[in-house]
Amino acid sequence: MAERAWPRLAAWSEDPKSSAILTDIDGTLSPIAPTPAVAFVPDELKELLAKLHKKYLLVAGVSGRKTEEARELVGIEGITYFGNHGFEVMREDGEVEVIPEALPYMENIEELETLAREELAPLGAFVEEKGITASIHFRNVPPEVGEKCVAFAREHGERLGLRVTVGRGIVEARPPIKTDKGTAVRTLVEEHKPKRAMFLGDDTTDLDAFRELEKMRDEGTLEEILRVGVKSDEGPPEIVSEADIVADGVEGVGEVLRSLL
Ligand SMILES: [Mg+2]
Repeated sequence: MAERAWPRLAAWSEDPKSSAILTDIDGTLSPIAPTPAVAFVPDELKELLAKLHKKYLLVAGVSGRKTEEARELVGIEGITYFGNHGFEVMREDGEVEVIPEALPYMENIEELETLAREELAPLGAFVEEKGITASIHFRNVPPEVGEKCVAFAREHGERLGLRVTVGRGIVEARPPIKTDKGTAVRTLVEEHKPKRAMFLGDDTTDLDAFRELEKMRDEGTLEEILRVGVKSDEGPPEIVSEADIVADGVEGVGEVLRSLL
Protein backbone atom coordinates (compact mmCIF):
# COMPACT_ATOMS: atom_id res chain seq x y z
CA MET A 1 0.00 0.00 0.00
CA ALA A 2 2.77 2.40 0.99
CA GLU A 3 4.49 1.88 -2.37
CA ARG A 4 1.34 2.18 -4.47
CA ALA A 5 0.41 5.57 -3.04
CA TRP A 6 3.48 7.41 -4.36
CA PRO A 7 2.10 7.86 -7.93
CA ARG A 8 -0.96 9.58 -6.44
CA LEU A 9 1.23 12.56 -5.54
CA ALA A 10 1.71 13.33 -9.22
CA ALA A 11 -2.06 13.16 -9.72
CA TRP A 12 -2.54 15.72 -6.93
CA SER A 13 -0.20 18.13 -8.66
CA GLU A 14 -2.61 18.12 -11.65
CA ASP A 15 -5.44 19.56 -9.53
CA PRO A 16 -3.72 21.59 -6.81
CA LYS A 17 -6.55 24.06 -6.22
CA SER A 18 -8.73 21.25 -4.83
CA SER A 19 -6.00 19.87 -2.58
CA ALA A 20 -4.83 20.72 0.95
CA ILE A 21 -1.39 19.95 2.35
CA LEU A 22 -1.39 19.81 6.15
CA THR A 23 1.77 19.05 8.07
CA ASP A 24 3.27 18.63 11.49
CA ILE A 25 6.40 20.72 12.02
CA ASP A 26 8.89 19.31 14.60
CA GLY A 27 10.37 16.02 13.42
CA THR A 28 8.57 16.31 10.08
CA LEU A 29 9.83 19.57 8.57
CA SER A 30 12.64 20.08 11.09
CA PRO A 31 15.06 17.36 12.18
CA ILE A 32 14.58 16.48 15.87
CA ALA A 33 16.82 18.82 17.87
CA PRO A 34 18.31 18.45 21.38
CA THR A 35 15.95 21.23 22.56
CA PRO A 36 12.94 22.77 20.75
CA ALA A 37 14.65 26.17 20.77
CA VAL A 38 17.42 25.08 18.38
CA ALA A 39 15.16 23.29 15.87
CA PHE A 40 15.25 24.57 12.28
CA VAL A 41 13.58 23.87 8.95
CA PRO A 42 16.10 23.33 6.11
CA ASP A 43 16.04 26.07 3.42
CA GLU A 44 15.21 23.55 0.73
CA LEU A 45 11.99 22.56 2.51
CA LYS A 46 11.09 26.21 3.07
CA GLU A 47 11.41 26.87 -0.65
CA LEU A 48 9.28 23.84 -1.48
CA LEU A 49 6.59 24.93 0.98
CA ALA A 50 6.57 28.47 -0.42
CA LYS A 51 6.04 27.09 -3.93
CA LEU A 52 3.32 24.72 -2.77
CA HIS A 53 1.61 27.61 -0.98
CA LYS A 54 1.33 29.48 -4.29
CA LYS A 55 0.09 26.46 -6.19
CA TYR A 56 -2.27 24.64 -3.79
CA LEU A 57 -5.59 25.52 -2.18
CA LEU A 58 -4.09 25.32 1.31
CA VAL A 59 -0.77 24.67 3.01
CA ALA A 60 -0.94 24.60 6.80
CA GLY A 61 1.43 23.79 9.66
CA VAL A 62 -0.16 22.04 12.65
CA SER A 63 1.85 22.02 15.87
CA GLY A 64 1.75 21.74 19.64
CA ARG A 65 3.97 24.81 19.76
CA LYS A 66 2.74 28.33 20.32
CA THR A 67 1.37 29.57 17.02
CA GLU A 68 3.84 32.46 16.61
CA GLU A 69 6.68 30.07 17.40
CA ALA A 70 5.46 27.63 14.74
CA ARG A 71 5.34 30.45 12.20
CA GLU A 72 8.81 31.63 13.14
CA LEU A 73 10.23 28.14 12.80
CA VAL A 74 8.76 27.51 9.34
CA GLY A 75 9.47 31.11 8.38
CA ILE A 76 6.88 31.46 5.62
CA GLU A 77 4.34 34.27 5.81
CA GLY A 78 0.87 33.72 4.48
CA ILE A 79 0.50 30.02 5.18
CA THR A 80 -1.91 28.92 7.90
CA TYR A 81 -0.63 27.76 11.28
CA PHE A 82 -2.68 25.79 13.79
CA GLY A 83 -0.82 25.90 17.08
CA ASN A 84 -0.97 25.46 20.82
CA HIS A 85 -2.39 21.90 20.64
CA GLY A 86 -5.26 22.93 18.37
CA PHE A 87 -6.40 25.91 20.46
CA GLU A 88 -5.18 28.67 18.16
CA VAL A 89 -5.07 29.38 14.46
CA MET A 90 -3.14 31.99 12.48
CA ARG A 91 -4.72 32.40 9.08
CA GLU A 92 -3.22 34.04 6.01
CA ASP A 93 -3.65 37.55 7.46
CA GLY A 94 -1.25 36.74 10.34
CA GLU A 95 -3.78 37.32 13.14
CA VAL A 96 -3.81 34.68 15.90
CA GLU A 97 -7.29 33.59 16.90
CA VAL A 98 -8.29 31.34 19.79
CA ILE A 99 -10.91 28.79 18.73
CA PRO A 100 -14.36 30.06 19.80
CA GLU A 101 -15.15 27.12 22.11
CA ALA A 102 -12.07 27.90 24.24
CA LEU A 103 -12.55 31.67 24.57
CA PRO A 104 -14.84 31.52 27.66
CA TYR A 105 -11.93 29.96 29.58
CA MET A 106 -9.41 32.72 28.83
CA GLU A 107 -10.06 34.61 32.08
CA ASN A 108 -9.66 31.49 34.21
CA ILE A 109 -6.39 30.59 32.52
CA GLU A 110 -5.15 34.11 33.18
CA GLU A 111 -6.18 33.87 36.84
CA LEU A 112 -4.25 30.63 37.24
CA GLU A 113 -1.19 32.15 35.56
CA THR A 114 -1.26 35.25 37.75
CA LEU A 115 -1.53 33.15 40.92
CA ALA A 116 1.29 30.87 39.72
CA ARG A 117 3.52 33.89 39.11
CA GLU A 118 2.85 35.13 42.64
CA GLU A 119 3.17 31.81 44.45
CA LEU A 120 5.42 29.52 42.38
CA ALA A 121 7.77 31.78 40.44
CA PRO A 122 9.47 33.00 43.66
CA LEU A 123 10.29 29.34 44.43
CA GLY A 124 12.05 28.95 41.07
CA ALA A 125 9.28 27.59 38.82
CA PHE A 126 8.92 29.15 35.35
CA VAL A 127 5.44 30.24 34.32
CA GLU A 128 5.35 30.36 30.53
CA GLU A 129 3.21 32.95 28.76
CA LYS A 130 1.14 30.77 26.43
CA GLY A 131 -2.20 32.47 25.96
CA ILE A 132 -5.11 30.04 26.11
CA THR A 133 -3.10 27.32 27.86
CA ALA A 134 -0.89 27.74 30.94
CA SER A 135 2.41 25.93 31.45
CA ILE A 136 4.36 25.77 34.70
CA HIS A 137 7.87 24.38 34.29
CA PHE A 138 9.69 22.86 37.27
CA ARG A 139 12.51 20.86 35.72
CA ASN A 140 15.24 22.93 37.33
CA VAL A 141 13.92 23.21 40.87
CA PRO A 142 14.03 20.87 43.91
CA PRO A 143 11.48 17.99 43.81
CA GLU A 144 9.40 19.45 46.65
CA VAL A 145 8.84 22.60 44.59
CA GLY A 146 7.76 20.41 41.65
CA GLU A 147 5.26 18.65 43.91
CA LYS A 148 3.96 22.02 45.04
CA CYS A 149 3.51 23.11 41.41
CA VAL A 150 1.47 20.01 40.59
CA ALA A 151 -0.68 20.33 43.73
CA PHE A 152 -1.21 24.03 43.00
CA ALA A 153 -2.26 23.42 39.40
CA ARG A 154 -4.62 20.60 40.42
CA GLU A 155 -6.25 22.65 43.18
CA HIS A 156 -6.77 25.81 41.14
CA GLY A 157 -7.43 23.95 37.90
CA GLU A 158 -10.32 22.14 39.55
CA ARG A 159 -11.69 25.34 41.06
CA LEU A 160 -11.47 27.13 37.69
CA GLY A 161 -12.86 24.28 35.60
CA LEU A 162 -9.65 23.61 33.66
CA ARG A 163 -8.06 20.35 32.56
CA VAL A 164 -4.66 19.74 34.17
CA THR A 165 -2.01 17.40 32.74
CA VAL A 166 1.36 16.55 34.24
CA GLY A 167 4.37 15.86 32.04
CA ARG A 168 8.11 15.56 32.54
CA GLY A 169 9.06 18.69 34.48
CA ILE A 170 5.89 20.49 33.46
CA VAL A 171 2.28 20.86 34.55
CA GLU A 172 -0.22 22.38 32.15
CA ALA A 173 -3.75 23.73 32.44
CA ARG A 174 -6.07 24.15 29.47
CA PRO A 175 -9.75 24.56 28.69
CA PRO A 176 -11.65 21.26 29.12
CA ILE A 177 -12.38 20.97 25.41
CA LYS A 178 -11.23 18.21 23.11
CA THR A 179 -8.62 19.69 20.79
CA ASP A 180 -5.85 17.86 19.05
CA LYS A 181 -4.34 17.68 15.58
CA GLY A 182 -7.48 15.84 14.47
CA THR A 183 -9.81 18.69 15.46
CA ALA A 184 -7.39 21.17 13.86
CA VAL A 185 -7.40 19.22 10.59
CA ARG A 186 -11.21 19.02 10.57
CA THR A 187 -11.55 22.78 11.16
CA LEU A 188 -9.19 23.51 8.26
CA VAL A 189 -10.97 21.10 5.91
CA GLU A 190 -14.39 22.50 6.81
CA GLU A 191 -13.18 26.05 6.23
CA HIS A 192 -11.35 25.49 2.94
CA LYS A 193 -13.39 22.60 1.52
CA PRO A 194 -10.71 20.75 -0.44
CA LYS A 195 -11.59 17.52 -2.27
CA ARG A 196 -8.34 15.97 -1.14
CA ALA A 197 -6.27 16.45 1.99
CA MET A 198 -3.01 14.99 3.21
CA PHE A 199 -1.28 15.08 6.57
CA LEU A 200 2.41 14.54 7.21
CA GLY A 201 3.57 13.61 10.71
CA ASP A 202 6.09 11.65 12.77
CA ASP A 203 4.63 11.18 16.25
CA THR A 204 1.77 9.91 18.39
CA THR A 205 -0.21 13.18 18.33
CA ASP A 206 -0.15 13.08 14.51
CA LEU A 207 -2.17 9.86 14.56
CA ASP A 208 -5.20 11.95 15.62
CA ALA A 209 -4.85 13.82 12.31
CA PHE A 210 -4.49 10.56 10.33
CA ARG A 211 -7.61 9.12 11.94
CA GLU A 212 -9.68 12.28 11.46
CA LEU A 213 -8.77 12.33 7.76
CA GLU A 214 -9.92 8.74 7.51
CA LYS A 215 -13.24 9.66 9.18
CA MET A 216 -13.75 12.57 6.83
CA ARG A 217 -13.13 10.35 3.84
CA ASP A 218 -15.53 7.69 5.13
CA GLU A 219 -18.27 10.25 5.78
CA GLY A 220 -17.77 11.79 2.32
CA THR A 221 -16.36 15.18 3.42
CA LEU A 222 -13.18 14.32 1.50
CA GLU A 223 -12.87 12.34 -1.73
CA GLU A 224 -9.30 11.31 -1.18
CA ILE A 225 -6.75 11.38 1.63
CA LEU A 226 -3.06 10.69 2.03
CA ARG A 227 -1.38 9.97 5.33
CA VAL A 228 2.35 10.47 5.14
CA GLY A 229 4.20 8.89 8.06
CA VAL A 230 7.71 10.07 8.79
CA LYS A 231 9.75 7.11 9.98
CA SER A 232 12.17 7.63 12.88
CA ASP A 233 13.73 5.61 15.69
CA GLU A 234 11.59 7.32 18.34
CA GLY A 235 8.21 7.47 16.61
CA PRO A 236 5.36 5.03 17.36
CA PRO A 237 4.96 2.02 15.00
CA GLU A 238 1.45 3.20 13.98
CA ILE A 239 2.92 6.22 12.21
CA VAL A 240 4.25 3.73 9.66
CA SER A 241 1.51 1.07 9.80
CA GLU A 242 -1.32 3.63 9.38
CA ALA A 243 0.44 5.61 6.64
CA ASP A 244 -0.28 5.51 2.90
CA ILE A 245 3.21 6.78 2.22
CA VAL A 246 6.25 6.32 4.46
CA ALA A 247 8.86 9.06 4.30
CA ASP A 248 12.36 8.34 5.51
CA GLY A 249 12.99 11.24 7.88
CA VAL A 250 12.91 14.92 6.95
CA GLU A 251 14.73 14.12 3.69
CA GLY A 252 11.93 11.77 2.70
CA VAL A 253 9.46 14.59 3.38
CA GLY A 254 11.40 16.68 0.88
CA GLU A 255 10.87 13.95 -1.72
CA VAL A 256 7.11 13.90 -1.05
CA LEU A 257 6.84 17.69 -1.32
CA ARG A 258 8.86 17.74 -4.56
CA SER A 259 6.52 15.14 -6.06
CA LEU A 260 3.60 17.49 -5.39
CA LEU A 261 5.05 20.26 -7.56
MG1 LIG B 1 6.41 15.97 15.20
